[in-house]
Amino acid sequence: MINIPGRIEIANLPTKIEKLERLSSKLVGQNIFLKRDDQTGTEMSGNKVRKLEFSVKEALDQGCDLLITCGGIQSNHARATAAVAAKLGISSYLVLRTDGEEEIDGNYFLDKVLGAKIRFITPEEYREKRMEIMESIKEELSKEGYNPYIIPEGASNGIGTFGYFKAMEEIVQQEKEMGIKFDAIVMAVGSGGTYSGLFLANKIMGYGAKIYGVNVSNDEEYFKNQIEKVINESLFYIDKTFRFSKEEINIIDGYVGRGYALSRSEEIEFIHEVAKLEGVILDPVYTGKAMYGLVNEIKEGNFKKHNNILFIHTGGLYGLFPKKDLFSF
Ligand SMILES: *Cc1c(COP(=O)(O)O)cnc(C)c1O
Repeated sequence: MINIPGRIEIANLPTKIEKLERLSSKLVGQNIFLKRDDQTGTEMSGNKVRKLEFSVKEALDQGCDLLITCGGIQSNHARATAAVAAKLGISSYLVLRTDGEEEIDGNYFLDKVLGAKIRFITPEEYREKRMEIMESIKEELSKEGYNPYIIPEGASNGIGTFGYFKAMEEIVQQEKEMGIKFDAIVMAVGSGGTYSGLFLANKIMGYGAKIYGVNVSNDEEYFKNQIEKVINESLFYIDKTFRFSKEEINIIDGYVGRGYALSRSEEIEFIHEVAKLEGVILDPVYTGKAMYGLVNEIKEGNFKKHNNILFIHTGGLYGLFPKKDLFSF
């Protein structure tokens, strides 16, 4: 056993694992199972809630009464943070990236409903100095008497990633109960915390799972570095020295498409098809691209060694609403 940091319990866990019968037989020929991390909650849904259980515990332990975080205008993470703050009776301040006038829709709409304070910054500011901007907001708010805590993008840092360390243990437990061993675990990679947590638990606990991330922005090299960085941060919390090579991090590159949060028509059609086949809604930014990538890789014969594949549905439903015009019915 290994002692990991403490958490608050806000997510609905464990999440179900279900087989996608028709997608598997119609499109693919291999067994695709879905881990329903989109059902960790309603307001607090998706993969970010698992990470926030750990980040917010650390924040509360430090006496924090306000959470500052950042993300794109339709950030699932920002919305989940706003909901967690409201639930705990503390405040939230979201720094959101946008390059123009935004319609109040999807996650951004929910951020407002949940009472978050919001500041917009440009894509350039976001890229170059989001951390400095959050630090300066923290300073301003401290002067007003708050005790703010900064959660970085996606809660993908040393502490947040334990959410998926724990999720890996959950998956192994479910494998035992189901009498199945997943040959591959696949998910979208956006800021790398989900992948990092699964990878770390898998290595340290010696589970021997094959884990693949489909990047939805940047490229393979970027995410290998990012994931290595997050893992090294989390090792600090468990006081372990642990060696791994970046070569062990499996990133399936090639499905970014038009860029982060931009959709191609084939991705939208795929989301529509899966919805009609399985009653499962994927999101346009992460899970739609990642599962499109997985199905494509399977069709190309790149997953032949893997019979039972577990895809983690990391959430993102609300991000679909602002994209409704891309659908044709
Ligand atoms: C943030 C997010 C991801 C990516 O997870 P990371 O841990 O940031 O790599 C995947 N899917 C959804 C729906 C997300 O909101």
